Amino acid sequence: MAAELLDVHGLLFKRQKYKEADLLAKLWTKELGIVTVIIKGGMRPKSRLAAAVLPFTEGTFGVLTRRQGISQLRTYKKLRQHDELFTDLDKSAYLSYLFDLADHAFSEYQNLGSYYQLLMGAFDRIVAGQDPEIIAQIVQLQLLAAFGVAPQLAACVICGKEQGIFDYSLSLGGVVCSDHFRNVDRLHLSPKAAALIRTLGLLPLERLGQIQLDEPLKKESRRAVAQIYQATVDLNLPSLRFLNEVRGG
Ligand SMILES: [Zn+2]
Repeated sequence: MAAELLDVHGLLFKRQKYKEADLLAKLWTKELGIVTVIIKGGMRPKSRLAAAVLPFTEGTFGVLTRRQGISQLRTYKKLRQHDELFTDLDKSAYLSYLFDLADHAFSEYQNLGSYYQLLMGAFDRIVAGQDPEIIAQIVQLQLLAAFGVAPQLAACVICGKEQGIFDYSLSLGGVVCSDHFRNVDRLHLSPKAAALIRTLGLLPLERLGQIQLDEPLKKESRRAVAQIYQATVDLNLPSLRFLNEVRGG
């Protein structure tokens, strides 16, 4: 296939040194999905592309691509940078983890569908100062479907009831209502935490308003989300270990 020069929209979420003065970077894009690009001479201080290759740069990237393998970053326009992320360890640790997680849910050049906007929306909201823990749990829960292990959250796995008191069952892969609490393996979540997980897993991110949750409840749902991941996708990402250090266990 001939290479074509394409303008793609999105975010540079990861980079590493490559050979002497080159860089490899990963872009999260609307048009091509996840793309690895080489940036020739990107490590040189005078590189005209140097501005485009800082982590968490948003914009329009001109990419020479064959829609397979490594593409090449050639130009950029309309960049938006977020210098504050370099000094805000909390925000950058959350963002690095969420994009790393999403990076594992898709192969390169795979269409991201609505997940493109999910991650870009999460990025905007975390940068703007919304509670990153809530946003992270939304992204984590909703990405499970992209990993092929969507939990059933809308209704009881056993009887289909949509309202009432619920708990989460790892072995059944979804929520169960209190009618079956005696007979099933379950996480023994508080009713509030189970309700929170259902909400975060089902709520379109753009409909998330200002939400204030107390710390113990957020921690409980965070533990449950972690358990769901261990039971299904188990990735053991260094970016998650780093985030856990930053947010305190
Ligand atoms: Zn039920």
